[in-house]
Amino acid sequence: MLLELDHISKIYGDLHAVDDLNLTVPQGEWLAIVGSSGSGKTTLMNMIGCMDSPSKGSVKLEGRNLEDLNASQLADVRKNMIGLVFQKFYLVPHLTAVENVMVAQYYHSVVDEKQALEALDRVGLKDRAHHLPGQLSGGEQQRVCIARALINDPKLILADEPTGNLDEKNEKIVLDLFRQLHDQGTTIIVVTHDALVASCAEREIMLNHGVLIGEKWNDEAARARYEAAGGKPAFTGSTEEGAQREGDLPIGFADPTKAAKTGGEAE
Ligand code: ADP
Ligand code: MG
Repeated sequence: MLLELDHISKIYGDLHAVDDLNLTVPQGEWLAIVGSSGSGKTTLMNMIGCMDSPSKGSVKLEGRNLEDLNASQLADVRKNMIGLVFQKFYLVPHLTAVENVMVAQYYHSVVDEKQALEALDRVGLKDRAHHLPGQLSGGEQQRVCIARALINDPKLILADEPTGNLDEKNEKIVLDLFRQLHDQGTTIIVVTHDALVASCAEREIMLNHGVLIGEKWNDEAARARYEAAGGKPAFTGSTEEGAQREGDLPIGFADPTKAAKTGGEAE
C-alpha cells in the first residue's frame, strides 16, 4: 500500500476534526474524499501530505511511519513524493506561468525552464507560458497549478477542491488531466463537493464530523484488485469490518449528490 492510515485522529480541544479513521490506498488508486463543509476533509489531506501530524494514530507512506521522520526528512517526502493542488490557486501574481512552475522547481533545487515548459505542455498551456496569472482564465490558472504539482513526477497527487472555482468546461479539462495521470500510474486523492468529480474516482469515501460514514467503489475492477492485494474497507473506530456498513450498502451514499450539495458553501 502506498498510504496506510491507522486509527488517525486530529483533535482540537473538544473537536475531533478527524476521528479514528482507518484507510489504505494502494499505489495507482484514484480516491475521492467527499463530505459537507467542516467534515474534516482538508484536515485529513494535510495529515496525508505531511503538512500536519495526527493527534493520535499513524500515517504511513510507502511503509514509512511519518512520525519517525525528522523535519528535513518530512520536507523531502513532501518535495519528492507529493504534488499539491488547491482550490485557491496560490500563483505568484507578478510571475508568468512558466516562472510560477519554476518557483516549484526552485524548491526541488533544480531550475530548468525547458522542463517547466514541458510541464506546461503536459497541461496544454505551452502557448500561455509567458502570460501572468491575471491574463489567464481560472481554468488555465488551475492547469498552471497542476503543472507546478507535476514537477518532480510525484507518486501522489493531493488535490483539495481542485475544481471548486472552475466552470463545467474547465472542470472537464482538469478531470481529463487527472485521468491521464491516473493512466500513467499516479495515485490521486481528491477532495471534492462535486458528485461528478467524485464519480470519476475509482473509490469514494464520505466523512461526516471526522467520521467515515460511507465507502463506495465506482470501478469494480479496481475494487477486485484492491481486495486481491489484501485491501480492507475503510472504517472508523474499532470495528475491523467497517462499523458503518449495513449489508453491502454503506450508509451515507444513498444519494451522494445530496451530500455534495449540502456541503456546497464556499470555504
Ligand atoms: P473540510 O475541509 O471538510 O471543510 P476541515 O478539515 O477544514 O473541514 O475542518 C474540520 C473541522 O476542524 C472544522 O470544524 C474546523 O473548524 C476544524 N478545524 C480545522 N482546522 C482547525 C484548527 N487549526 N484549529 C481548530 N479547529 C480547526
Ligand atoms: Mg476543506
